[in-house]
Amino acid sequence: MCLNKTLLQLKLSPHDSISVCRDLRKNKNCKYYSKLMKDLGKTEDISIIAKKLLIEPCDADEIISFAGGAGYCPYFLSKLLLEKVGIVICSYHWLFNPDIKEIFLKFINKDLFNCILINDECHNILSMATQVNSERISPFILKLALKDLELYNADRDMINLIRILIAHLENKKTNLNVEERELNPEILVKNLYEKIGLKDLNSFKILIKELKEFSSYVAEIKSSQGLVQRDYIGSIAKYWLKWLEVLDNERFFFCYNLRTTREGNKNISMEIVALDPREITVPVFKNAFSTLSLSGTVNPYVYTNLMGLNETGKTSKVIVSPSPFPKNNIKALIIENINTKKVNRGAQTYKKMVNKIEEVIYCTPGNVGIFCASYNVLKGLLTQDIEQIVQKYNKKLYIEDSNISAAENAIMIENFKSEGKNNGAVLLGVCGGRNSEGEDYPAEFMNSVVIAGFPYHVPTPRVNAKIKYYDKVFRNRGWEFAYLYPAIERANQAAGRPIRKLDDKGAIIFLDNRFKDKMKWISSWLRDEIEVIPDKKGAITQQLFPFWNEGYF
Ligand code: SF4
Repeated sequence: MCLNKTLLQLKLSPHDSISVCRDLRKNKNCKYYSKLMKDLGKTEDISIIAKKLLIEPCDADEIISFAGGAGYCPYFLSKLLLEKVGIVICSYHWLFNPDIKEIFLKFINKDLFNCILINDECHNILSMATQVNSERISPFILKLALKDLELYNADRDMINLIRILIAHLENKKTNLNVEERELNPEILVKNLYEKIGLKDLNSFKILIKELKEFSSYVAEIKSSQGLVQRDYIGSIAKYWLKWLEVLDNERFFFCYNLRTTREGNKNISMEIVALDPREITVPVFKNAFSTLSLSGTVNPYVYTNLMGLNETGKTSKVIVSPSPFPKNNIKALIIENINTKKVNRGAQTYKKMVNKIEEVIYCTPGNVGIFCASYNVLKGLLTQDIEQIVQKYNKKLYIEDSNISAAENAIMIENFKSEGKNNGAVLLGVCGGRNSEGEDYPAEFMNSVVIAGFPYHVPTPRVNAKIKYYDKVFRNRGWEFAYLYPAIERANQAAGRPIRKLDDKGAIIFLDNRFKDKMKWISSWLRDEIEVIPDKKGAITQQLFPFWNEGYF
C-alpha cells in the first residue's frame, strides 16, 4: 500500500520497509505522507474521509485508488481509518507478527482483549507462526553490512566479526555436500568470539549490543544525508540478538542451508529455525476476547495442540460440521497397489501411474489437475510419456515450474482455466506448491484432480529436529504432528481444489495406497465419499465414466 517509488524500488521485507518509510517521513521525503498530514490538519478530516470511503466494505485496491487520486499515502490513510471501522479483514501478520501487532493495535485503538478474531483458512497459521519467529543471514547481506561498517569507520571487532562470518559461510558453501546441516550454536559462537579475540560470551554480547547501537548511528547519518537504504547492520545485529536469546532453547534449531538456483548458483544461509508455533500463537489466543478458527482441511486435534489452545486458560470447543456438498457431486477414489515410497520410485511405478491417469483423462470432459508428491514424481511421470497421453485426448498440458515468476504462473493458470470451456487441459503440479493451495478451480476450471503419491516432506535435519522436539512436548506424537500431518494437509488442500462452491462437481483420485491406511486423516467432507478401487485395468473408468457422462454434460 505504498506509492513511494524510492521505497518500492528497494523491494524490502515488511520489517525493513517500515524503517525506510520512517526515515522518508522523518526527512519529509515522502510527498504522499506529507500531503495527507497537511490536508488532515487543514482541509480534510479523517471522519469525513471515512464517511466518503466507507459507505460499504472497502478493500485495499479501493483505498489505494482513492488515496492515489488525492495524492495521499494509502498505507497511512488505511491506518488512520482503522479507528473508524468495526470489522478489519487483514493478513495474519498484523496480529501474529510481534513486529507488527503492537503498531496495528495502536491504530485500531484497542487492546487485543477487545477483539474477536476470526481466523479463516486457519491451517496457514501453523507455518506462518514459526516463520515469523525464525531468522537467517547470508553472505550477501553480510557483505552489504561490511561495506557500511567500513564506510562509517566502525570498531575493528565489528568489522572482524563480519569478515570472519563471510569467510566461514563461503567456506561452507564450497564444502557442504548436503542441502542442510545442523550446527551447534554454542560451539559456533565460541569459535567466533575467540577468533575475534574476545575473552568470553559476555564480551561477545556487549559487541552485539554495540553493533545494534552503531546501526542506529549509521541510520541517523544516512537519514540526515537523505540516503534511503535498508539497515544491513541492524539486520545482522537483530539476527545475533536472537541467536544469543535462544542459544540453549530447545524450541529452536540452528543450521546451514544450501540452495541451488535455476542458473546453478549455490546460495548459503545460516538459519535460526523456530520449531514451536505456540511461542507466537498462545499470546494472541490467550489475550483476544474470543477466537473462531475455520478450515476445510485442518485436523482439530493437531490444531488445538500446535496452537496451544489448551494453554490459553480459555474454554475451546471443536465443531465438525457435516459436509455441505451433495453426495452425488463428489467421486473420491483411492487406488490400490500404488506406492510412491522412495524405494518404489522407478519406471515401473511411474508407468503404472500414467496408465491410471490416462483413465482419468479419458473419462473427464474438461480440465484435470495432477498434483504430485514432489518434483521428482512429476519428472517421473514426464519420463513415462504423460505428455503424449495428454495430447492423445486433444488436451493441452501445463507444467508447474517453481522457477517462473508469480506473474508468469498466474498467466499459465488463467490459460489452463480457460481451456475448461473447450476440450479441457491438464495441469501438472506438486502438492504444497503455489497452484495446489490458495488457487481455486471451481466449476469447469477443474473437473478431476489426481493426488499422485503421498506428499511426505524429505526428512531434512530441521524436519527430524521438529519430530524429536514434538515427541518430547506432545507425548510422542512427533512423527504424526511434524511429518504425517503436514503431508496429509498438503494432500487435503490439493484434493479440495475442484470443490469450492456448493454446486461444484468433482472427482478426486488418490494414487497411493498409503492414503487407505491414513484415511482418518483425510478431511471429513471427503473421507465419507471415498471408495477403494482395485489395481485393475478399467477399474477407474468403471467409476468415473458414468460419474462424468450420465446426465451432467
Ligand atoms: S509514508 Fe506511505 S507512501 Fe510514504 S513511504 Fe511510507 S508507506 Fe510509502
